[in-house]
Amino acid sequence: MQTKSKLLLIVSFMLLGLAVATIINVSLNFREYSINSAIEKSKMAANIVRDGLTAHMVNGVMDKRQYFLDQISTNRSIKSLWIVRSENVIQQYGDGFHSESVRDAIDSQVLKTGNVLQQITEETENILLRITIPYKADVTSGTSNCLNCHDVKMGDTLGAVSMEFDISAMRSSGFFTILKILGINLLFIIVALFLINYYVTPYMKLFTNLQTGIKKAYRGDFTHTFSTTVKGDGKSIVDQMNTLFRKMQETFGDIKYNLATFIPQGCTSSSDPLYEAKTIISELSDIYKFKKTIELDLTKNDVYSRIIDVLKFKYQLSHFAFYEINNTTMERKLIYISHGESICHEFINKDSSLCRAYRTKTDVISTEFVNLCQTCNAKELKYICIPFTINDDASLVLSITTNTEAELNKISMQATSIKNYIEAAKPVIESKLLMDKLRDTSLRDGMTGLYNRRFLEEFIDQVMSQASRSKDTYSVMMLDVDFFKMVNDTYGHDVGDKVIVALAGVIKENIRESDLAIRYGGEEFVLMLHNANDEGSLKVAQKIHSGFGNLIFDVGVGETMQKTISIGIAKFPSDGDSIWKCIKYADTALYSAKNTGRNKIVEFKAEMFSGEEF
Ligand code: GH3
Ligand code: MG
Ligand code: MG
Repeated sequence: MQTKSKLLLIVSFMLLGLAVATIINVSLNFREYSINSAIEKSKMAANIVRDGLTAHMVNGVMDKRQYFLDQISTNRSIKSLWIVRSENVIQQYGDGFHSESVRDAIDSQVLKTGNVLQQITEETENILLRITIPYKADVTSGTSNCLNCHDVKMGDTLGAVSMEFDISAMRSSGFFTILKILGINLLFIIVALFLINYYVTPYMKLFTNLQTGIKKAYRGDFTHTFSTTVKGDGKSIVDQMNTLFRKMQETFGDIKYNLATFIPQGCTSSSDPLYEAKTIISELSDIYKFKKTIELDLTKNDVYSRIIDVLKFKYQLSHFAFYEINNTTMERKLIYISHGESICHEFINKDSSLCRAYRTKTDVISTEFVNLCQTCNAKELKYICIPFTINDDASLVLSITTNTEAELNKISMQATSIKNYIEAAKPVIESKLLMDKLRDTSLRDGMTGLYNRRFLEEFIDQVMSQASRSKDTYSVMMLDVDFFKMVNDTYGHDVGDKVIVALAGVIKENIRESDLAIRYGGEEFVLMLHNANDEGSLKVAQKIHSGFGNLIFDVGVGETMQKTISIGIAKFPSDGDSIWKCIKYADTALYSAKNTGRNKIVEFKAEMFSGEEF
C-alpha cells in the first residue's frame, strides 16, 4: 500500500473514532439533560400548583381549582396533570372532585411515604416521564401556614401532584443532534483528507521521484532529472540532487573516456559507468601485469605460451588453435592446438590467403552465415577465428571452437577482451620477431637460404637435448659435389655458385619442415632428417642424389653440364651418441664414397672409422 494511502487511512480512522466518541458522549449527556430538565420543570409546576391551590383555599374559591389546573396543563410538554388528596384532607374536606382520587400505585405510594417518585416509560412512538411530588404540611410554604386550615401535624402529607411529561421530542432532537454532529464530523473528515491529500501529494511525488532517481543511480544511470512542486526545503533538495547527479554523470563519463584511451577495445558494454570504470581498471591492471611479464620473456615462443595460458586459464578456453602466418611466404605455422585436429583444411598451411579471417582481417563467426569459412573442415562445430596483424612480416590467427551456439556467443562477448591482451603483446612479439629475423640472418647462408655452420654450432646442443628427452632420432647426411673445383676452374665462380644454389633447391624440395639443412662448407651440406627410419632416409638421399644428377646446367655458349654428388649417412643415436660424432661418421662415409668412385650414397659402418673416438 502506498504511504499516502496509509496516511489517509490512519487519519480517517482517527477522525471517525473521534466522531463516534463525541456522538456517544453527546447522546448520553443529552438524555440525562432532558430528563433532569423535565424533572426541574415538574418541580416548578408542582410548586405553582401548591401555591395556586393555597391561594384558592385562602380566597375561598377552592371550587374553581380545576380551571386553574387545566390552565397549567395546557403547557405543551405536560401531557396530563392531576392532584390527589391524602386521607387526612379527605377526612377533613371530603373526597373532592372525582379526578382527584388516587389513580395508581405511584399515587398511593407517594401519599404513604411522602417521597417523590418518578418513572420513565419508553414506547415505540413516545417517551413519558411520570413524576409524583407530595405536598407536606409546613409553615414556610409560601406566606401561609398549612396548619391554619388543615387538622394535621407538621410534615404530614396533604396530597400529591402527578404529572406526565412527553419527552419524545428529546429523542428526536437527540437523533438530529447526533446526525448534525455526524455530518459535521464527516465534513471535517473530508476537508481534513482533502487538505492532507493536497499538502502531502507533492511530497509523495517528490519522494517517488527521488526513489526513481536513486534506483537508476544504483544501476549506474545518473541521467535522471529531479523535479518537484514543493517549495522551500523540497525545492532545495531537488536542486542539490540535480547538481550532484550532473557532476556524477560528467565525472564518470570522463573517467570512462580517459580509461578507454588506455585500452584499445572497449571491454565492457555495461551502461553503468561505475561498473564500467571498475571493469576497465581491472582489465588494465591485468593487461599491465601481463605486459610486464612478457617483456621479460626471452623468446617469442615464451610470449606465445603466455598468451596460450591466458586463453586457457583466464578465459577458460578449452578448444582452440593458435597460428602464426608468414606474410611473405603465406605459410601458416601451428603454434598451439588444445585438441587433436585443426578445423582448417591442411592446404591452408601452405597458402594462408585461403584463411578467411587472415584474408579479410575480420573476425569470422560461424553463426553469421551458413558455411561462412569454406576452408573449414568441421561443419558440425561452431567457431570464431580472430586475426591479428603483428607487422609486415607476421600475423596471428586464433581459432576457437565450441559445440554449442550459446558457448560461442559467450566467447564472442569475450573476443574484445582477448584482443586487448594480444594487442598488448603485439609490440613484444614484434620485437621478438625482429630479433629472430636478425638472428636468423646471422644463422643463415645468404646464397642458399639454408642454415649456416654457425647455426649448427649454436643450436645443435639445444636440438640434441630436446631429441634425447623425446627419444627422437636423426639421420645425419653429408653431401658434397663431385669435382666441383673443376666447375669453378672451367666455367668460372658464377656457374659454380649456380650449382651450389641448385643443389640447395633440390635439398629443400626433398626434406620436411622438421628436418634441418645446413650449408656446412663451400659445396658441402649437412642434412639432419628428423625421426626418419633407415629406409626413409636412404630414399630421401636417393631422391636428392638423382634430383641433382638430373639437373642440366647451362654454362653459356650453347654448352651444358651435369654434375653428381656423393652422400655419406650416419644415424643418431645408433651410430653415434652425439650429433658431432654422427657428422664425423657421415663425413667418413662421404670420404668412403669419394674414394670408391664418387656419385654414390654410402652408409656409415663402424669399420670405416679408424680415427680416435671423441
Ligand atoms: P671432390 O670430388 O673430391 O669433392 O673434389 P672437388 O673438386 O669438389 O673438391 P672440393 O670439394 O675440396 O672442392 C671445394 C671447392 O669449392 C673449393 C672452392 O674453390 C670451391 N668453393 C667453395 N665455396 C665456393 C663458393 O661459394 N662458390 C664457388 N663457386 N666455389 C666455391
Ligand atoms: Mg667436392
Ligand atoms: Mg668439398
